[in-house]
Amino acid sequence: MLEIKNLQVKLEDEDKQILKGLNLTVETGKVHAIMGPNGSGKSTLSYVLSGKGGYEVTGGEAILDGKNILEMEAEERAAEGLFLAFQYPVEIPGVGNMTFLRTAVNAQRKARGEEEMSSTEFLKVIRAKAKELKIDAEMLKRPVNVGFSGGEKKRNEILQMAMLEPKMCILDETDSGLDVDAMKLVAEGVNALRSEGRSFLVITHYQRLLDHITPDVVHIMANGKIVKTGGPELALEVEKNGYADILAEVA
Ligand code: ADP
Ligand code: MG
Ligand code: MG
Repeated sequence: MLEIKNLQVKLEDEDKQILKGLNLTVETGKVHAIMGPNGSGKSTLSYVLSGKGGYEVTGGEAILDGKNILEMEAEERAAEGLFLAFQYPVEIPGVGNMTFLRTAVNAQRKARGEEEMSSTEFLKVIRAKAKELKIDAEMLKRPVNVGFSGGEKKRNEILQMAMLEPKMCILDETDSGLDVDAMKLVAEGVNALRSEGRSFLVITHYQRLLDHITPDVVHIMANGKIVKTGGPELALEVEKNGYADILAEVA
């Protein structure tokens, strides 16, 4: 599904290399977690995959179902089925959540050369998904993320993901600011959307999130590279002993 080969990334305006030859393969239908100490480049990886500016790819590639997404515009990546749950969801005053989602869904369809979803169909789909994810219908009418609590923003992110039906979801969960309840919401959302044709890359500093999402594969990232790969037990090892032992072992 997603194959990242020897990815090298530096800051655009500074001579600072952040990703230093990162290799990662995420198979179809699998949930992979990336853990790692602060500053190891986890967020940079998610930003570069999403097409956010400010970074320069100096080598390597990221192949999603046979196509190098690093050569695509952000919208094209979304059309190819990539979804990135942003660390800090933007607030869009004056734009209703429903309108925003419908625009996003139809932009994706248009980029794929598909017909737009009619408003009747869209309403039907969004109501069904909101119900499935236990999201209050009232939230759909409010302006995007404006005045949303941390938990509501997370719910909204999951709803966005459900509506766009991506094949590759990347979630970068910040080290701070995610309380236990919000973390559970993220986990429930991921678990509800897990499916044979959909892969997840869940990035997290702490093991806690992985108490609720059992990943198929766990990677440890340090200093711009994946340094160790294993099963769920690797996350437990980090919880117990921190990163020091693993980093010493691979050094
Ligand atoms: P992580 O998410 O693992 O904590 P980041 O990707 O946020 O790591 O950061 C990796 C390194 O790159 C850090 O040393 C960070 O300070 C630096 N970095 C990332 N983005 C920027 C930026 N826009 N400007 C300056 N330094 C940055
Ligand atoms: Mg950080
Ligand atoms: Mg980060």
